[in-house]
Amino acid sequence: VGFWRLSKLGVSVYNDPGKDFLDISDALLQEIAKVLKFPVASMLPPEAFTVIRKSLDARKSQKEPKFMYTVEIDVDKLLSLELRTWDFISRLEPRIGLIEHVLHERVSGDLIGMAQDLKKINGATVTREGGHSSYEGSTNSYPTTKKPKIAVVGSGPAGLFSALVLAELGADVTIIERGEGVEQRGRDIGALVVRRILQPESNFCFGEGGAGTWSDGKLVTRIGRNSGSVLAVMETLVRFGAPKSILVDGKPHLGTDRLIPLLQNFRRHLQELGVTFRFGTRVDDLLIEDAFVVGVKVSSSREIPRSNSQKLRYDAVVLAVGHSARDVYQMLLSHNVDLVRKDFAVGFRIEHPQELINSIQDPNRFTSVQYSGMADEVRRGRGKLPVADYKVVEYVSKDDVDGPSTSGPTGRSCYSFCMCPGGQVVLTSTNPAELCINGMSFSRRASKWANAALVVNVSSNDFDALNLHGPLAGVELQREFERRAAIMGGGNFVVPVQTVTDFLENKLSKANVPPSSYRLGVKAANLHDFFPVHITEALQYSISMFEKELPGFISNNALLHGVETRTSSPLQIPRSGDTYESTSLKGLYPVGEGAGYAGGIVSAAVDGMHAGFALAKNLGLHRGDM
Ligand code: FAD
Repeated sequence: VGFWRLSKLGVSVYNDPGKDFLDISDALLQEIAKVLKFPVASMLPPEAFTVIRKSLDARKSQKEPKFMYTVEIDVDKLLSLELRTWDFISRLEPRIGLIEHVLHERVSGDLIGMAQDLKKINGATVTREGGHSSYEGSTNSYPTTKKPKIAVVGSGPAGLFSALVLAELGADVTIIERGEGVEQRGRDIGALVVRRILQPESNFCFGEGGAGTWSDGKLVTRIGRNSGSVLAVMETLVRFGAPKSILVDGKPHLGTDRLIPLLQNFRRHLQELGVTFRFGTRVDDLLIEDAFVVGVKVSSSREIPRSNSQKLRYDAVVLAVGHSARDVYQMLLSHNVDLVRKDFAVGFRIEHPQELINSIQDPNRFTSVQYSGMADEVRRGRGKLPVADYKVVEYVSKDDVDGPSTSGPTGRSCYSFCMCPGGQVVLTSTNPAELCINGMSFSRRASKWANAALVVNVSSNDFDALNLHGPLAGVELQREFERRAAIMGGGNFVVPVQTVTDFLENKLSKANVPPSSYRLGVKAANLHDFFPVHITEALQYSISMFEKELPGFISNNALLHGVETRTSSPLQIPRSGDTYESTSLKGLYPVGEGAGYAGGIVSAAVDGMHAGFALAKNLGLHRGDM
């Protein structure tokens, strides 16, 4: 009979005394019993049920906020009880929609498969705990005389996961990272935020864990939450210290404070597998012989001017450098590596008081007496309700905005992105002459502010209009807007801002600039002077439409910050679908966001993991099916 899945089980927030996300509370058991038409809920054995997804539904159409559960039933466990359960189980089959027969294995991610394979090779162990498969690290003894030497450039999620797979499978892996380990990186970021000292090689973008470390740590992804690969990444994060709730939470989130120890555990595990970390070491060039990458040229990124240039030989190079390593793109171009420009998005970061977003999303929370105590808890990040967020999107066609310039030949989309409830706006520049921002939060999401990118997509038409050509046109576009932002802010990392109401009216915000979470200071500016008019018009139009969906979104207390440019990679490095190898340079494996194959922490990790498997296969490291 196997496993069955029950979805859309709604439990009122106030009736749900579950201690954590994985709990089968009494209220949930009641809901399960209703669906199963089982008369006595308390007779159902909680151990037969596993929560696999839990998310909050606080839409206004709901009378009250509810947690929506998806639960899996181990039917064998039910049948093994001395209950006359078979009757009702046999009645379930026709009720498809609410109940789905799940052909297990539920967790069968590639990392697990790999571990099982390794077990055959060298006796690694695979365990099952609480219904979840998980892998225990193997002692690595790949039975070849000479291990292939792999350089993984970059220790963001893509680099770390490819290193993990390769090291587990027996390669001799070195991670080369221009930034610092999380301990020193934390001090460098502190100096930036407090004393305005930007270390060009150790900052919000560069350093151990990559761009995702001092981030919001949202683990949402558009590549399919239930895919084996995503589950394998999530289980691995849990293994290194993430809370188990990320496996079931509809919108899993870690926060910077949880990411740092997680990365330290990740590093320790990799070191136990024999991986070498070279922090403060920048790859400046590739060593190429007979059209094949045979190594890298590195220098110490701690020393300026660059010194200690060193040539290191490897059998293959995984390039996981993220999309802020513009020098790497330039270097690839100098070797005629194929680079293809691609669409991305630019705009501003909008910030509201968190309380305003909470009240927009669910006015009941703050008006009813019953809810008011909880509202306080929620604001401090302690309550059971997650801090409210939002996601908005608007397609702007040519007809939606006035004038011939408008929205470009095919229109464009404007959307919110990387929303950080209870977070803060941070500086993600890697060069003091360029200014760009993003958002981060801590696990409790307890700050007074809610920020999100509000961006409009840009494409080849925009590059051409600004006379930017070639594969790096998008990079140049980003750079141009970032320079404008630095100038408009007046230097010293001060960010140009305008209230949303003034932006809509095209007037400078003067005395009325509300406070911002951005620590390095803001300066009133007219953000209409920023982008070409069609981008500004698309933003104006979309904001007025978002107001219809989220009344109160347009507010004197909502502040637009300039500029958000690094939403995704402005180019792609083509690679072969099967081998993950660059189509133009053998021995080079471009992965993750910088190569144009990911758009966030989880998708970058998944891409790195797949590339690790593909490279291992190319090297003949893996014997089983992959
Ligand atoms: P990166 O994480 O960018 O890692 C690349 C690494 O390569 C860096 O550590 C860099 O120092 C190193 N490197 C670059 N060039 C060289 C060189 N020449 N030599 C040696 N090393 C080099 N995504 C989410 O999914 N959720 C979020 O909540 C989220 N919040 C974010 C908040 C902020 C502030 C930022 C900046 C990004 C956020 N993102 C978030 C995006 C996410 O961080 C990226 O999508 C993800 O980190 C990309 O992973 P990656 O491994 O491809 O590259």
